[in-house]
Amino acid sequence: MKVSGFTIVRNAVRFDYPVKEAILSILPLCDEFVVAVGNSDDDTFGLINSIGSGKIKIIRTVWDDTVRDGGRTFALETDKAFKAVSPDADWAFYIQADEVIHEKYHGAIRTAMVVDTDVHQGNGTAAIFGDDASVFTLSIHQENNYPMPKPPSDEDIGLADGTRDQEYLDALEKGLLRSLKKMTPDLIFYVGGADPYREDQLGGLALTFEGLQKRDRLVFEHARRRGIPVASTLAGGYARRVADTVRIHVNTIVAARDVALQAL
Ligand SMILES: [Zn+2]
Repeated sequence: MKVSGFTIVRNAVRFDYPVKEAILSILPLCDEFVVAVGNSDDDTFGLINSIGSGKIKIIRTVWDDTVRDGGRTFALETDKAFKAVSPDADWAFYIQADEVIHEKYHGAIRTAMVVDTDVHQGNGTAAIFGDDASVFTLSIHQENNYPMPKPPSDEDIGLADGTRDQEYLDALEKGLLRSLKKMTPDLIFYVGGADPYREDQLGGLALTFEGLQKRDRLVFEHARRRGIPVASTLAGGYARRVADTVRIHVNTIVAARDVALQAL
């Protein structure tokens, strides 16, 4: 996996921006680091150069001060730096010239688990992280559905058509426990699809609203018990009634709140 970092800066010496500290705080995680140095009246270039790392890639830019309204100048400069990131980079960290990452969070950024409960297998994350031992991918899905073929996740749970709540929840919990035995991640990305719902038009599983919310709670509770933070995202949902899809997604948020408020 290739990790890039990037930032923009101008007149860092004059305005006393701790840009060198900012870059050094994330540099151990990066394979390369792009710094877009804007036209400066001081030796910002020399300051960045003094980091003395082969990972640093400096590009020189000229800030367009006529578009300062709404921060457009910063947006344009950010784009320039981002474009200079190597095209084969898998991740890109943007750190501002006055931000730092505490080293105690380096681990949290290094190992993650993706728990994908969309009815369709998580082929994207499976393919992207196939060779990456720092990211564990778990997908529970309908076996007889898109995509075909399925690139292997670290843990794939392919379910039969028409699988109902209890069978689904048992399979998910077993898979989750198996996965957490293999890796204790510092962060879990939870992809909570609404499409395992029994009335979904693209899905062939048979979960109810209650079953789906139990699913959410199951993932959140296992994470909470182990002190693993969870980032939850929406995923597919194609219920005949749009309100049903919305309800399932809202239920995920409610489950997250409930579990967060539970006494440990
Ligand atoms: Zn889907």
